[in-house]
Amino acid sequence: MKNFELKSMVRPNIWELKPYSSARDEFTGDEGIFLDANENPFGERNRYPDPHQRELKKALSNRNNIPVDNIFIGNGSDEVIDIVFRVFCEPLEDSVIICPPTYGMYEVSANINNVNIIRIPLNDEFELNTELILSESAKCIFICSPNNPTGNNLKNIEKILDQFNGIVMVDEAYIDFSDSKGFVDAINRYPNLIVMQTFSKAWALAKARVGVAYSNKDIIALMDKTKPPYNVSGFNQQEAINALSDSDKFKERVDLILEQRNLLVKELTKLPFVKHIYPSDANFLLVKMSDADAIYKYLVSNKVIVRNRATVVPGCIRITVGSPEENAQLIEVLRNYKD
Ligand SMILES: *Cc1c(COP(=O)(O)O)cnc(C)c1O
Repeated sequence: MKNFELKSMVRPNIWELKPYSSARDEFTGDEGIFLDANENPFGERNRYPDPHQRELKKALSNRNNIPVDNIFIGNGSDEVIDIVFRVFCEPLEDSVIICPPTYGMYEVSANINNVNIIRIPLNDEFELNTELILSESAKCIFICSPNNPTGNNLKNIEKILDQFNGIVMVDEAYIDFSDSKGFVDAINRYPNLIVMQTFSKAWALAKARVGVAYSNKDIIALMDKTKPPYNVSGFNQQEAINALSDSDKFKERVDLILEQRNLLVKELTKLPFVKHIYPSDANFLLVKMSDADAIYKYLVSNKVIVRNRATVVPGCIRITVGSPEENAQLIEVLRNYKD
């Protein structure tokens, strides 16, 4: 974007905010007699976790070749989204752009923060309507790529980054299932870019609630001072560090899911009530059915739970790629469907 000035983007109260200084900020060594944080001296879980998640950031830094100062860790992406609202969007004053059909939390988080929503739907090809987007003025735009629930990588993100006069949040929750290398490498070229990723999908750690944002160090510093000090538990930081240490297992699982995605496409195509399977760069398929509501109910009655998306994409259900056994069962149940 042209003439980007960060200060003019940030809420004045956040720009001026003096962060909470935790006891562990003043002394950072591991060894010593710690009588500074009113912790209980007994037990194995008695100490507060690292509020700066240094070890986890170091592991992410090594894997992705990005300095730790460019990394923010949230209690799931949901917290990352909320922090972006809190840093940039003045309640009852600012607007954000979202491009439905897309991830529902952008809208919920906007509503929680009392921030106005400008909806600019994706076009018939599920691509960004760049002209309309660039004709609007908003503090922030949320772009999900690969998009949930449509499954596709979005084109034209670069154009938005070049020309949109606000913060561009690119949600890459599914990027590891995609051939696209994503936008993390672009954070040095675009001062208005925040890229969000998560441990919940490809890293198989949804239970741990660990979300990540990459941006320039000034934006990361603002997000850091706005977050609750101990926002990610020590257990969950450790789970993420453990996952990162086994990249073979990570790759094996992602490869298996991709192989299963192809198999599901092949098997679903054979079913008479499947009208269309949208191409997917993610670990799910958006499938158009002759009667989505009926098939959804039928699947639930057979204890197979998928996501009915008929209200956001007419006639469609979203199917997450499961284990080989789960997928085989899904197909078996669907084969027995009689309309
Ligand atoms: C699943 C998902 C996330 C992950 O959210 P967490 O809070 O990290 O579990 C983020 N964005 C999108 C689009 C998702 O579908």
